[in-house]
Amino acid sequence: MAAGGAAGPAAVCGPERPGAGGLALLGLAPSAPSCPHGPALLFVKTGQGGGGGGRRFYACSACRDRKDCNFFQWEDEKVSETRLAAREEYNRNHQPPFTHRQNVERYKSFVLLPLSERRFCQECQQLLLPAEWEKHSNHQFLCDISTAQLKSPSQLLYPLENKKTNAQYLFTDRSCQFLLDLIIDLGFRRVLSVGTPRLHEMIQSKASQEEDFRVRSLLLDIDFRYSQFYTEDEFCHYNMFNHYFFGGEAACETCRKFLYQDKGERVIMVTDPPFGGLVEALASSFKKLMAMWKETEKEGHKNQEMPMFWIFPYFFESRILEFFPSFNMMDYQVDYDNHALYKHGKTGRRQSPVRIFTNLTPSMIVLPVEEGYRFCAVCQRYVSSGNQHCEICNSCTSKDGRRWKHCVLCKKCVKPSWFHCNNCNCCTLQNHACEKTDAGCFVCGKAGHKRSSCPSLSRTRTACQADEKQRQKTVKRVKMGICKRSAMKRAIFSRKKLKNNKKKKM
Ligand code: SAH
Ligand code: ZN
Ligand code: ZN
Ligand code: ZN
Ligand code: ZN
Repeated sequence: MAAGGAAGPAAVCGPERPGAGGLALLGLAPSAPSCPHGPALLFVKTGQGGGGGGRRFYACSACRDRKDCNFFQWEDEKVSETRLAAREEYNRNHQPPFTHRQNVERYKSFVLLPLSERRFCQECQQLLLPAEWEKHSNHQFLCDISTAQLKSPSQLLYPLENKKTNAQYLFTDRSCQFLLDLIIDLGFRRVLSVGTPRLHEMIQSKASQEEDFRVRSLLLDIDFRYSQFYTEDEFCHYNMFNHYFFGGEAACETCRKFLYQDKGERVIMVTDPPFGGLVEALASSFKKLMAMWKETEKEGHKNQEMPMFWIFPYFFESRILEFFPSFNMMDYQVDYDNHALYKHGKTGRRQSPVRIFTNLTPSMIVLPVEEGYRFCAVCQRYVSSGNQHCEICNSCTSKDGRRWKHCVLCKKCVKPSWFHCNNCNCCTLQNHACEKTDAGCFVCGKAGHKRSSCPSLSRTRTACQADEKQRQKTVKRVKMGICKRSAMKRAIFSRKKLKNNKKKKM
């Protein structure tokens, strides 16, 4: 959720950082160099003139903020042997202090300890064994870690709220329970949880407590802290921006096995990526996971796609549909515990813009009537209470849950706060900066359009810019909304002691 993920302009701030201008993602190149987060992504800098042929460079796939990972390399740059060696050394040193296997063994020892000896270091975000207490003696720690606490690691661990990389926003119990009930009602028995630790945790915890609970889950997440609580069959350290399994082929195989529909146990993938991530990079990884699923079945789902819930803000609808035309957006508002803004709208707070995108038949996604959702017989899907069916569009057109109004000039429904501007020839906010000015386009100099819609710009570039614009908007919203707890940087690979970051006033 929130600003995170794929390297956009902000990630690219090495000494030779390209100047202002556009950036386009070219994707994963076969010979890409690696940073501690796996293979870097290839971008191209498009100059102010808009012409192609810009200089190409690699940047970290996972971190937008150079403070989290400052990997940068021009594609045509000659990298000396010494620098390569140094880089390898750096990548090795920036791996977690313990391997997943070691963490599993540590957990086994931990649960054998009497309650009074079960400590969790809050600074290192680590379960401690008695022999290690000394080393952490001047760190803050929690005592008497109960079995219940071990079963809810997402409550024990700090949410990584640094907006630029992890942006961990945890589902409210209401949303999480809704998702799980829906999954069960739809007949799924396996959930590939990609960046949804709380959903995974709910499934794991029910599976261990309720005898007739048959659902299983595998968590794929970049937050390695979770490896302290789950075995290699329950958690894979994974980067969803470059489809990278940190645990190598073995981890990839675990995922493949999980996707194999044993005894007709149907699989669904649920993902809730950082909102700032480049949709294109995410889509490319998700397609690889879908392909993995497809390969597991010899004959079965020939022309089918792996069922999926992609949880993302509604304003990314067109971007998601661009990559997954079979997807539909559901009206259900997903909300979060540690997010002041993205909460359920009932109490007059702002409504969450986060929705479920799915390739399942919309009519099958039953939304809770007690929360005001109703079934529209024409659209054959559940919609928000405020979402009125428009007779002209012949669809329930609201995206944000409010009642939208139809504009005959635009030939579509628009937000209630918009008005038709005759200059711009479209509906927009009343106090918008009118597009009609005497000055020509900034890129080509011609009149009649602005830089943002200049026909001389490539499609990718404009799309990428649209992502970036959307991202900045999101970041702004998120910034206004998140709790003030200081961002927990670097805890993906928490190694050094955490400094006391000064709390930023937002
Ligand atoms: N709402 C979800 C959490 C979503 S927050 C829940 O409650 O379960 C986004 C999640 O994506 C976090 O768990 C974060 O650690 C993970 N994440 C962020 N960047 C990632 C990346 N590059 N690859 C894989 N997971 C990532
Ligand atoms: Zn990196
Ligand atoms: Zn309708
Ligand atoms: Zn309409
Ligand atoms: Zn206007």
